Amino acid sequence: MTEAKRKLAVVAVGGNSLIKDSSRQGLPDQYAAAVESMVHVAGMIEAGWDVVLTHGGGPQVGWILRRSELAQHELHPVSLDYVLADLQGAAGYMFQRALHNEFLKRGIQRPIATVITQTLVDRNDPAFQHPSKPIGSFMDEAAAREHEQRDGWSVMEDAGRGWRRVIASPIPQRIVEAEAIRRFIDTGVVVICTGGGGIPVVEDESGALQGVEVVLDKDYGAMILASSIQADLFLISTAVEKVALNYNKPGQQWLDSLSLAEAKRYLAEGHFAKGSMEPKIRACIYFLEHGGKQALITNPENLENALLGRTGTRLIP
Ligand code: ADP
Ligand code: MG
Repeated sequence: MTEAKRKLAVVAVGGNSLIKDSSRQGLPDQYAAAVESMVHVAGMIEAGWDVVLTHGGGPQVGWILRRSELAQHELHPVSLDYVLADLQGAAGYMFQRALHNEFLKRGIQRPIATVITQTLVDRNDPAFQHPSKPIGSFMDEAAAREHEQRDGWSVMEDAGRGWRRVIASPIPQRIVEAEAIRRFIDTGVVVICTGGGGIPVVEDESGALQGVEVVLDKDYGAMILASSIQADLFLISTAVEKVALNYNKPGQQWLDSLSLAEAKRYLAEGHFAKGSMEPKIRACIYFLEHGGKQALITNPENLENALLGRTGTRLIP
C-alpha cells in the first residue's frame, strides 16, 4: 500500500491483551500479554494500516483504587478521574515499549505516542441518577454507610457477596483530544489513547472541563473515537475469534458477517451477553449508523487473518 492509500483502523484491545488469566496478573505478565497483541498490531501496520490503539483496564482500575484505599491513613485518596489517568499512563507505557521492540525486530520506522485522553459525558445523562457499576473492594454494611455519609458514595449490596461502592456509567459523548489525535495520525504517529474509555469529564456553560467520578464503557469510548476520527475500520480485539449466536448453548453458530439489521435483531433476541459482547455489538451498530464502513470482531492472534477476510465477524451497513 502506498502512503496515500493507507487506511485507518481503531483497534480496541480488550482485557485479555494485558491479563491472560488470574494467575498471571503482575506487571511482567501484563507486559508479556501486551507483547503478544502488539506482534499482531505491528503485523497490521506492516500490511499497510494506520493504527490507533485503545484499551480497557477494569482490573487495573480496581487495583489502583485498592492501593489508594489501603494507603488512606497515610496518603491522599485518588479520585476516579485520576485513577483513569494513572491507568492510561501505565498501559500506554506498556504498549509503547512492546510496539517499539516489535518495530525494531521488523525494521518498521514509525513514531509511537500515548495521548492522555479525556472523554466528555453529558452532565444531564440520566445514568448519574442511577449508579449501577460496582467498583472497588467489598465491605460490611457499616463501612459502606460510613463512606456514604462521609464521602458521598453510592453503595449497594452486591449479589449476596457484601457491600460495594457503585458508580454511574454515563454514555461517552465526545473525545476532547480528537483533533490532537487526528494530527498525530496525519503525520504518521501510531497513537495509543482513550484507555479505559477515557478520563470522564463534564463541561460547564463556559466550556471548562471538570473530572467526574464515573466509569465509562471502553467499547463505547473506542467507538466514539473511531467515529470522530472517521476511521475506515473499527476493530475489536477480544478473547473470541468470532461472535456467535446461542453462545455456549445448544445450537451455537459462529458468525462470519452481520448486517446492521441482523445485528439489531440478534441484539434484541438476547444473543450477546450484557457487560461483555453486548456493548461491543452496540458500539459497532452506533459506528455503522454514524458513517462507519465496517467493524470487525476477533481475537489478537487472528487480527491479520481477519483483515484478509479469512476469519472474525465482520459488521457492515
Ligand atoms: P473485553 O475485555 O475484550 O471487553 P469481554 O469479556 O468484556 O472482553 O467480552 C468478550 C467476551 O464476550 C468473550 O470472551 C465471550 O466470552 C463473551 N460473549 C458473550 N456473548 C458472546 C457471543 N454471542 N459471541 C461471542 N462471545 C460472546
Ligand atoms: Mg469488556
